[in-house]
Amino acid sequence: MPKKYRVLLYYKYQAIEDPEQFTKEHLAFCKSIGLKGRVLVGSEGINGTVSGTIEQTDQYMAYVHQLEGFEDVWFKMDEADDYAHKKMYVRPREEIVALNLSDDIDPLETTGEYLEPTQFRDALLDEDTIVLDTRNDYEYDLGHFKGAIRPDIRNFRELPQWVIDNKEQFMDKKVVVYCTGGIRCEKFSGWMVREGIGESVGQLHGGIDTYGKDPEVQGDLWEGKMYVFDERIAVPINHVDPSIVGKDYFDGTPCERYVNCGNPFCNQQILCSEENEHKYLRGCSAECRKHPRNRYVEEHQLSTEEWEARLNAIGESLKDTETA
Ligand SMILES: [Zn+2]
Repeated sequence: MPKKYRVLLYYKYQAIEDPEQFTKEHLAFCKSIGLKGRVLVGSEGINGTVSGTIEQTDQYMAYVHQLEGFEDVWFKMDEADDYAHKKMYVRPREEIVALNLSDDIDPLETTGEYLEPTQFRDALLDEDTIVLDTRNDYEYDLGHFKGAIRPDIRNFRELPQWVIDNKEQFMDKKVVVYCTGGIRCEKFSGWMVREGIGESVGQLHGGIDTYGKDPEVQGDLWEGKMYVFDERIAVPINHVDPSIVGKDYFDGTPCERYVNCGNPFCNQQILCSEENEHKYLRGCSAECRKHPRNRYVEEHQLSTEEWEARLNAIGESLKDTETA
């Protein structure tokens, strides 16, 4: 059965004169057709992921394509069973992906060489090429290209400093970078070129998403699933020999199920089975498990006695004094 919904992923660096006005009109249109998702608008361009019925997404693409300067926006498309977003947001932003460089890069002027999926696969197979994942640690942990370097970052804007701190891995090397849909690599690879880090810098054109859909490579050499910032969370990429690389936070067994830590002040994303979510009250640490605002405890309406009994079962107690 063909699916009735679609998820669109797209961006374009293209000057927008009045981002505030653009934002208002864009939001009004999206709402008028019942689309859902998240679109960021800046004077440098537009970056979005939206979901809707076939008809809604067709209407939206036609709308974007008639905007001056956006006639050629490339929409990456996935079929879906339902909306992948709860609401519709269109928001003005200084940058459409925040890299926060003190001296900003215009990717229309300086960016890494675009590699098509087959060229990128050749780079993956080349022993002399360094492959750098530009995404966050929790995205990498769910899935990544075989042999790619995992930067120890929780936010994209930490990446330049991380690369500077680990420069010796990249100097005088052929470097290729990749991200979900390609947008993060536009400025980042440009920054690497400008800083002279890497003998050459290539970027996966259209990102992992495009690589997974390419009829020739079909996601080959990708391990695990791709993390996405919508309700689907994990999407398949490798259609040749799929595998699982995600590991349960608590027991290390294969796992692709993300939950947010029950402590709202922590909120860390952890991979865990349903069984372990119950066992550890969705808490990433002893402190989070006994936190007075723990959402798991609230949602399951655990009494203090039940809460204490669950903690006792894993050798902890509500009465434990802080050790951290
Ligand atoms: Zn936590």
